[in-house]
Amino acid sequence: MIKDNIERVKERIRASCSKTGSNPERISIVCVTKGQPIESISELAGLGYKDIGENKVQEALFKFNQISGLKWHMIGHLQTNKVKEAVKVFDLIHSVDSLNLAEEINKQALKVNKVQEILIEVKTSPEETKFGVSPVDLEEISTEAAKLGNLKVKGLMTIAPLAENIEETRKYFALTRKLRDKINPGWLLSMGMSDDFEVAIEEGADIIRIGRAIFNG
Ligand SMILES: *Cc1c(COP(=O)(O)O)cnc(C)c1O
Repeated sequence: MIKDNIERVKERIRASCSKTGSNPERISIVCVTKGQPIESISELAGLGYKDIGENKVQEALFKFNQISGLKWHMIGHLQTNKVKEAVKVFDLIHSVDSLNLAEEINKQALKVNKVQEILIEVKTSPEETKFGVSPVDLEEISTEAAKLGNLKVKGLMTIAPLAENIEETRKYFALTRKLRDKINPGWLLSMGMSDDFEVAIEEGADIIRIGRAIFNG
């Protein structure tokens, strides 16, 4: 059941926060509802969880049109030809992985008179399959993105590679925090999923993106 599963997630959040002495209330949970029906989203909303994460623009738009009052997060790779629809739906785009994409978001946000909040996705691991800006290019890209008037950079996102030993994910989260501290200490960090969010919280995550732990228990 969603309610029990999310209580267990919160218990795990409290346990990791108590390790570092941080306040569990500062962690936001984005409930990742990709592949889930609208009823699951209504159930989450009824329990007070209103931050919804989707990884496909079409699926998000379909759901967005059926339920109001929620905060929508784009967490998947975003193609430039989907940006026009994306700016209509999403409150926060976590997956901005190039200056070209940032410029297109700025352009489409201007058209609908919106300041679009974004995170820059950082590619912290060498895996070929991962998207994201290389740590070497991050400072320059964030400086350029900050000049765009209809864009607001709120922080960084990263996805750690699958690891047999969860401790192996720590270095990717720690690197993301280090980059954030260097470039803009006021930025938020979106990092940690069902298997690795405890480590991410210990390394300073503000936003965790949770799917399976909510729906599969
Ligand atoms: C699916 C997904 C998640 C949630 O993953 P779970 O392992 O189901 O918690 C988080 N972030 C991104 C980018 C995803 O695609």
